[in-house]
Parts: sequence; C-alpha cells; structure tokens
Amino acid sequence: MNPIELSFEFFPPKTQEGVEKLRATREQLLPLRPKFVSVTFGAGGSTQQGTLDTVIEMSKGGLEAAPHLSCIGSSKDDLRRILTEYRSHGIRHIVALRGDLPSGMGSVGELRYASELVSFIRAEFGDWFHIEVAAYPEYHPQSRTPRHDLENFARKVKAGADSAITQYFFNADAYFQFVDDARKLGVDVPIVPGIMPITNYSQLMRFSEMCGAEVPRWIARRLESFGDDRESIRAFGIDVVTGLCQRLVDAGVPGLHFYTLNAAASTKTICERLGL
Ligand code: FAD
Repeated sequence: MNPIELSFEFFPPKTQEGVEKLRATREQLLPLRPKFVSVTFGAGGSTQQGTLDTVIEMSKGGLEAAPHLSCIGSSKDDLRRILTEYRSHGIRHIVALRGDLPSGMGSVGELRYASELVSFIRAEFGDWFHIEVAAYPEYHPQSRTPRHDLENFARKVKAGADSAITQYFFNADAYFQFVDDARKLGVDVPIVPGIMPITNYSQLMRFSEMCGAEVPRWIARRLESFGDDRESIRAFGIDVVTGLCQRLVDAGVPGLHFYTLNAAASTKTICERLGL
C-alpha cells in the first residue's frame, strides 16, 4: 500500500493516434496503483464527449475515473444533463471548476463561480459525487488579492467539496503557506499538490504564464540553457520535480496529483525515485 495516494490527470485525445498513446500511458502508470485518474474538460463543452468517452474507457479498465466539469458558458440544464449521464455510468467522483471562457464565446452561463457549481451539484445530486475543487497556492491569476482568493477557496469547500487539488507550483513554501492559511479559515479537507513534470521548456513557460504558476528563475535559466537538448531537459526536470515531491512527501502531504499531459515516462520515473 502506498503511504500517500497518487492520482494522474489526462486530457481527452482528439485523434486515434492520441487514443492509442493514452492507452499505452495508462498501462505504464497502472503499476503505480493510482487512487484515481481524472480527465480534463474544455470549457463550454468543447471536449465533453471526449471527456465522457475517456472516463468510461478508464473505468472499464478498472480505474476510478473522475471527469472534470466546468460551469462557465453552460446552463444549469446542460450541467444537469452531463451530471445525470455520469451518474448513469456509475461515476461518483468529479472535479468541479469554473473554467475559462474560450475566446469568441459570449455568454458566461448561469453559474459564475466553482462554488456555485459545487452548491448546484450538492443540491441536485446529494452525496452521490465525491467533489474535488481547484486550489491556487500562488493565487488565481484573476484574483483581486491573495486574501480574497483564499476566502473564495474556503467558500468552495464550505459549499460541499470533499477535497482539493492545487495548481502546479515549483515553490513548496507557497503550498505550505497556502495550506496553513486555508486551515486558519476552517478548511479541513485534503489539499493535494498538483505536480507538473518538466519535459518541454517553451510549453512550460507558456502554460505557467497563462495559469499564474511561477517558474523560479534558476529553473527557467537552466532549462533555457539546454536549448533543443530534450534529454537534458528531461533529466534536469526529473531531478527538480523529484526534489519538490520529496519535500512534500516528507511534510506529510495526503497525495500527489500528476499533470501527466498523457505521457507516462517522467511521472513514472519520479514516482519510482520516490519509492511510491
Ligand atoms: P473559481 O474557484 O470560481 O475561481 C475563479 C476566480 O474567481 C478566482 O480568481 C477567484 O478568487 C474568483 N472568485 C471565486 N468566487 C468568487 C466570488 N464569489 N466573487 C468574486 N470572485 C470570486 N480548466 C478547464 O477548462 N478544464 C479543466 O479540466 C481544468 N482542470 C483543472 C484542474 C485543476 C486541478 C486546476 C487547478 C485547474 C483546472 N482548470 C481547468 C483551470 C481552471 O478552470 C481555471 O483556473 C479557471 O480560471 C478557474 O477555475 P476555478 O474552478 O478555480 O474557479
């Protein structure tokens, strides 16, 4: 039995080649015995069918699979229909998000924030779903102030969330401080760190800029210096992220949630090095 619980995040593949790659990834990660896997969702329903298909395939393969669901751009009827479909397939675990409106999509929808989605799910489906919500140790990029963001996080949990997964970070102190502050606001659910393996410099910098995660200067400079040498980037990335995870594990985190980007190699090596 693993001392801490692992979970792996995937995105719904768009091509047959992507489907095959994800199957291979799943097979490689299965021996790590994840507590659950989660599958992302495009705001406004752009990957809705893909999320459902991927979750069903993962469930049939014996994994507990949790679809992500975002409320932005959707009506209550849309959300009720999707949730009812998940329930009809026996899915009992969900990651509830606000999401981001794709550019060009006009209407915000009927629910403005993830806290409202959590309340909606509890009101309509009772305790059927185990609900995860997102947390931001370095604060959500649109938040007014860190305090306001923390209070909004606490509101989501009070609305009925069972646990939280964080945005990825490379600074463990930001996570520890966030958890301390959340506990002071009465949040008592597990807050599982989200872990991003480093495999691609420009992609990492682009993602981090968008989601407000800080890549420390020393990491960015080292990655940049490797240029197109993907093997060195991967090896350095594994060292850095294994070191981060070790600190988190030593501090007693309840689990580690890996943003796999549908690739197994780095996640697998990191978990093996940690002895998980
Ligand atoms: P919320 O918790 O609603 O917060 C959004 C912003 O609104 C924050 O700045 C918050 O402080 C503020 N806020 C909240 N409540 C109030 C209030 N009552 N009044 C004023 N301000 C308020 N995106 C996808 O599109 N698909 C995915 O599958 C996906 N999966 C994710 C998984 C994880 C673990 C994480 C961390 C993020 C994921 N995202 C995904 C990204 C997420 O959708 C974005 O970060 C989005 O901008 C915010 O979603 P949220 O659920 O955190 O929003």
